[in-house]
Amino acid sequence: RDTPSELGATRGTALESPDPATVHADHIATPLSDARSQLAEAAGLLGLTDGLHQMLATPRRELTVAVPLRLDSGESRLYVGHRVQHNFSRGPAKGGLRYAPNVNLDEVRALAMWMTWKCALLDVPYGGAKGGLAIDPREHSMAELERVTRRYTSEILPIIGPERDIPAPDIGTDEQTMAWIMDTYSVNSGYTVPGIVTGKPISLGGSQGRASATSRGVTHIALAALRHVGLEPARSTAAVQGFGKVGADAARFLSEAGVTVTGVSDQYGAVFNAAGLDIAALGEHVRATGSVVGFADAEAIEGADLLTLDVDLLVPAAVEGVLHDGNAAAVQAKVVVEGANGPTTPAADRIMRERGILVVPDILANAGGVIVSYFEWVQANQAYWWRADEVESRLEERMLSAWQCVLGYADARGLSLRTAATALAVERVAEAHKLRGLYP
Ligand code: GLU
Repeated sequence: RDTPSELGATRGTALESPDPATVHADHIATPLSDARSQLAEAAGLLGLTDGLHQMLATPRRELTVAVPLRLDSGESRLYVGHRVQHNFSRGPAKGGLRYAPNVNLDEVRALAMWMTWKCALLDVPYGGAKGGLAIDPREHSMAELERVTRRYTSEILPIIGPERDIPAPDIGTDEQTMAWIMDTYSVNSGYTVPGIVTGKPISLGGSQGRASATSRGVTHIALAALRHVGLEPARSTAAVQGFGKVGADAARFLSEAGVTVTGVSDQYGAVFNAAGLDIAALGEHVRATGSVVGFADAEAIEGADLLTLDVDLLVPAAVEGVLHDGNAAAVQAKVVVEGANGPTTPAADRIMRERGILVVPDILANAGGVIVSYFEWVQANQAYWWRADEVESRLEERMLSAWQCVLGYADARGLSLRTAATALAVERVAEAHKLRGLYP
């Protein structure tokens, strides 16, 4: 981020000083100030009242819980977890659960707000939520992860449910985590509730195609965006930051679509091959060693240099705030497709826009995950399962129609894709809110 040492300065004070228009300055940028600055722009454009703007800048409900974990050694440790429900105007809250050491309440608030916009933009009938546990999952055994997940679930039990708030995987969690959450919730209910989480194992009512849905969606959008700027995917190059749940399959699908993926990074380092990386072989290497580092058929480069490689397409698919005012001027890609949530600060957005780089925002580009989460929830609630090709074709149709919709809105008003996408989403949430009216 721009100045990580200052991140603490804005944390924890955001709700006490909720004037959304004054929150943002890039030198104290946090995911929450980024999200609020994007909202402020959309609110101005839409002419929202201050009251409505302030309401949308503030989560409806937040729960912070202490989660004690009994370690395998017999000692115990305490972790702090959150569940933030940003909005319910269009339906139950929906969003992932993140396990990472630096998880904090403001980050979870930002991620929850982005979920609200993402669901509205893709017209899935949900509000937005996010959960987080400040833990490094790599430091724990499976048994410890199971205990901490069950205890966290049990602490947030009063506010989640298939009609209230539906968790899903995010960084550091996976389908096994979802299985434990589903079991804990179901045991407490006295019957099996498959609609309580999405991203479950298929054998427990998960959907075909959910695991790769975000990456598939990123790929549909990336191919459309390349063509939109006049680049033929089969003659284009790409760099992908992150080789996890989103990046690994995005690199694979892009290369299957004919794009030459020359660079890939993870948190340990980056690899480059001007002729194109063999993504299947790289996947094998990562399964065997846990990192892209040391992959034989490539040269090692600095992780930070991955973002400024001379490529046509850049896919940041890791964490927030990686494209900022310190590196945006050096980005060489013509198209940036955000696989991660919040990878671009508002300052970087401005710089890249001035330089003519097309940035496809997270709430559109990475929405494939929550779209198939919605399909999974529908299937679980009906106990009727769709074929993989049905899931994939409905996913593609929703992604491409949202792409057209955002593009049309942006072109008609001379907006960036991010401003257009955010405004479209905020407009839908505001409309639902107005129709329901303010109670009492
Ligand atoms: N964590 C994913 C996201 O950020 C998926 C959320 C979901 O499926 O509910 O979009």
